[in-house]
Amino acid sequence: MRVAIDKSGDAWRGEDAADVAQYLRDFEAGGYRIGRVVAAECEGCAGTVFRLRADPEEGCAERTCAECGKTALMLDSEDYWEGAAPEPVRCRCGADRFEVGVAFSLRANGDVRWVSVGVRCTSDGVLGCCADWKIDYSPSTDLLDRV
Ligand SMILES: [Zn+2]
Ligand SMILES: [Zn+2]
Repeated sequence: MRVAIDKSGDAWRGEDAADVAQYLRDFEAGGYRIGRVVAAECEGCAGTVFRLRADPEEGCAERTCAECGKTALMLDSEDYWEGAAPEPVRCRCGADRFEVGVAFSLRANGDVRWVSVGVRCTSDGVLGCCADWKIDYSPSTDLLDRV
């Protein structure tokens, strides 16, 4: 068994993007088992480090590639962004660059039930979940391609 995630102390730390996936599986946002985890990758340059703005109340998040600056609203965030009050996501260490993954809890028919956005700080490796929200419409499988 791989023990990359350091659960000692008061913060979980990971070594790479795969640990974001493991963290989200353990976190089980909404209390639901995770079906799939997809790592975010920039459409422009294939970069995997992002700055984020998120509104955990409204349930939406935007990522900006640290490499090329391309911005993308994640998942169905564009439907909620206008009424949202997004704040920049910062690690407790003050850094604002993260590897990002999205965990999907799936219904029996394959539709998405819940999404959670996980981050790993590239400075100190601290793992976290900056937003999670319920998906209550169908079809919703296209969300898997909109991380
Ligand atoms: Zn990029
Ligand atoms: Zn940090």
